[in-house]
Amino acid sequence: MTVTPDHSAPAAATGMPAAKAPAPDTSAITVRGLAKSYRSGGRGVVNALAPVSFTVGDGEFVCLVGPSGCGKSTLLKILAGILKPSSGEYRIHKQGGAVADCQIGLVFQSPVLLPWRTVLQNTMLPADALELDRDAMRQRALQLLDMVGLKGFEQSYPSELSGGMQQRCSITRALLHDPPILLMDEPFGALDAMTRDIMNSELQRIRLESGKTIFLITHSISEAVFLADRILVMSARPGRIVDEVIPDLPDRGSLDVMTTPQFGVAVHRIRKLLGIDVRNRPNVD
Ligand code: ADP
Repeated sequence: MTVTPDHSAPAAATGMPAAKAPAPDTSAITVRGLAKSYRSGGRGVVNALAPVSFTVGDGEFVCLVGPSGCGKSTLLKILAGILKPSSGEYRIHKQGGAVADCQIGLVFQSPVLLPWRTVLQNTMLPADALELDRDAMRQRALQLLDMVGLKGFEQSYPSELSGGMQQRCSITRALLHDPPILLMDEPFGALDAMTRDIMNSELQRIRLESGKTIFLITHSISEAVFLADRILVMSARPGRIVDEVIPDLPDRGSLDVMTTPQFGVAVHRIRKLLGIDVRNRPNVD
């Protein structure tokens, strides 16, 4: 992961009187003017991401919604250190200090499991890579697998699982070492609707209990409204953030909140921002 250094010159070095110090940036994720263009053989230069700027507070759950192809995955890959931006900068911090790569949990659209390792062994990968206490991590892995409904499949290989089960395994792997920051790219996109509801509830529960900072990309408006404290709405490519929506929900923990008028208000607002034609508009304006 690239953590952008502070490029500003200290006052003593410039000979100028010290200006009033700006308020310290306590955000977990700070993004300033991040943009990305690809050089593509067939299409010349593709402007995937217009300059975007935003922050994610410590312990905040922020979702980014936008149409397919607007640059959401590009943004997440930059934050995960997989892609270099064309311009702009970002910082990922925890309580004011830069975080190590191992303190970030990553979940992508496809599960990326190692086919020669069992479900339990795949979940244990961070324990092996970070040389953590194997017994304690094994206990935690078994608990997490139970939580996501994979109890009984610990010794199965990925090829023996459905796509949804593989994705649940990749989520347990991201959570194993209890990272304070999670970056998630459409983690539930391949799941059937029922499993997706269960996983959304579990993620919300984990977040409410642990206070993790989560940045999640989705193109499901209702998923974003259910999960997030704040939703960043992105335009079509090149993606730029057009506005943010803060749902005012009575209860974050239960799927029942999806039937409340406040939930409908937030969904309707996002649809409007995305320019989706809502023929039977609820009377919520
Ligand atoms: P999203 O995640 O919102 O669906 P992406 O970030 O995957 O969007 O892609 C944004 C745009 O960038 C798309 O038009 C896509 O075709 C293009 N793109 C993504 N990756 C590459 C690449 N490696 N080379 C060229 N174009 C790319």
